[in-house]
Amino acid sequence: MSKKTLSGECLCGEISWQMSGPFEFFGMCQCSRCRKVTGAAFATNLFVKPEQFIWLKGENNRNEYLLPKPNTFGNASCKTCGSRVPRKTARGWVLVPLGSTMELPGIEPTLVCPDDHTEWFTTLESTITEQ
Ligand SMILES: [Zn+2]
Ligand SMILES: [Zn+2]
Repeated sequence: MSKKTLSGECLCGEISWQMSGPFEFFGMCQCSRCRKVTGAAFATNLFVKPEQFIWLKGENNRNEYLLPKPNTFGNASCKTCGSRVPRKTARGWVLVPLGSTMELPGIEPTLVCPDDHTEWFTTLESTITEQ
């Protein structure tokens, strides 16, 4: 477990935050909902406890969207620039999109939903490995 402090901000800088370790779970998910919400091959999210997380500024400049119940999936974004920003999950974690943090969390990612992925991502993965 890593004990470092990480900070993150959205593209325009209106929203920023900080979180402190120890970090326990860094999930990379390739499910179809995560692909839609990020527009990328997978989501990279760090999950921290509320007491490990503080907003530095802009908490009220967020839009939050939740899929209808009983679904717990959602998204939060900056009202100004549209970047994904942290949000609280239904299970009480703070989900932090790790791409907005310029430092590494010091723990390895866990691949979530490995069976629900795109074939082109598998192709990319093998291209990287072969180099
Ligand atoms: Zn922004
Ligand atoms: Zn997912």
